[in-house]
Amino acid sequence: MDFSLPPEAEDFRRQVRDFLAANLTEEMIEATRDGTIHSPSLHRAMADRGWLSGAVPAELGGGGLDPVELCVLIEELQLHRAPIDALGVAIVTVSMVLEHGGDHLREAVVPRLLSGEALACFGYSEPESGSDVAAARTRAVRDGDEWVIDGSKMWTTMAHVADYVVLLTRTDPDVGKHEGLTFFVVPLDLPGIEIRPVATMGTERSNATFYDGVRLGDEWRLGDVGGGWRVMKTALKYERGIAGGQFPSPPVVEAAVDWARRTSDGAGRRLIDRDDVRDRLVRAMIDVEVARSFAYHTAALASDGVMFGVEGSMTKLFASEAYKKHCSWFLDLMGAEGLRTAADPGAHMGGRIEENFRHAPVTAIYGGTSEINRNIVAESHLGLPRAR
Ligand SMILES: Cc1cc2nc3c(=O)[nH]c(=O)nc-3n(C[C@H](O)[C@H](O)[C@H](O)COP(=O)(O)OP(=O)(O)OC[C@H]3O[C@@H](n4cnc5c(N)ncnc54)[C@H](O)[C@@H]3O)c2cc1C
Repeated sequence: MDFSLPPEAEDFRRQVRDFLAANLTEEMIEATRDGTIHSPSLHRAMADRGWLSGAVPAELGGGGLDPVELCVLIEELQLHRAPIDALGVAIVTVSMVLEHGGDHLREAVVPRLLSGEALACFGYSEPESGSDVAAARTRAVRDGDEWVIDGSKMWTTMAHVADYVVLLTRTDPDVGKHEGLTFFVVPLDLPGIEIRPVATMGTERSNATFYDGVRLGDEWRLGDVGGGWRVMKTALKYERGIAGGQFPSPPVVEAAVDWARRTSDGAGRRLIDRDDVRDRLVRAMIDVEVARSFAYHTAALASDGVMFGVEGSMTKLFASEAYKKHCSWFLDLMGAEGLRTAADPGAHMGGRIEENFRHAPVTAIYGGTSEINRNIVAESHLGLPRAR
């Protein structure tokens, strides 16, 4: 089996590396310690390169980046620890609007998102519904030419810097839960919207957002009234394919190898020369290769015109579970030294293992939990009976 990527993809990798050398600074990475994993200048620079519009599927009017190239882009961005929470959201939102939106959304929202001038965030989850996202209770009620929205959303990450929230609402409470849903793209500066910060153990800042009598015109509706679940499926399809953190482990493996090279045990042997340490490092590197294979397999399917589904779930499930395992291993390897945080000038590689150890469990929650992804793999790929 030949695992090498096509020469165009490796050419593109060199372009991305040159771009990052010129546009990504250590200060941008440091700035994410406030919890906002976004750099406006980096985001705009990627937009200027045409990588946002390029990542939107060609059949929707985007294009320019092959899905394998998009995978290379995401891999390089993650290897370099670039702050890119806004990237996947912009690409998925534009894809949703191009597939389901009317003229107003296409004209008012798409160009602003693709130029990097505006940002979007996702308002799907609620205090009482996360995995079971179709149980959303935020109400949208028609009032003449307008809609009035009342309710609250949880985990609206990026809302505090975004211009639009892609909001899942219930427009008909009297039909089956999947039938009474409708999406809107809601400008976040409308009266009646409140955004409150939610700190997470993984440093990343999220938000709770509240909607109190928010009025907006029908032109902001995304998809049919009652057709929200169809739009949601599109969102999940693109999110699992694009925004899943497929490459989270390499920076922690790098830190662990560096630590094992520099550190000796009580018997004066370098850790890197010990079989038990090498065993873990090599196993982690194998996992990284497996995760890459999942990711590039998914991308190659998309490149061949096959719209992946379950493969995106497999990729995210494997990568985030392996990442959690690696962080635990390496924290064990470092012992108390591994607990030194970024705030401690003596921390190895800026406290990278400690920071990732806190962040890893979160990746197995957002974008669909590992349990939900296991259910999807079990049902869609292994043909097991539905669990619920
Ligand atoms: C840092 C962070 C950022 C996020 N950003 C966003 C965002 O920007 N926008 C947004 O809309 N949401 C966001 N989320 C929400 C995220 O998608 C949900 O947290 C996730 O879907 C889980 O939902 P929940 O938290 O309500 O947990 P629940 O759904 O209540 O799940 C609780 C536990 O039960 C398990 N479980 C639930 N159902 C099943 C089942 N059928 N079978 C087996 N096990 C099951 C889950 O796996 C989990 O372990 C974010 C979450 C986090 C932590």
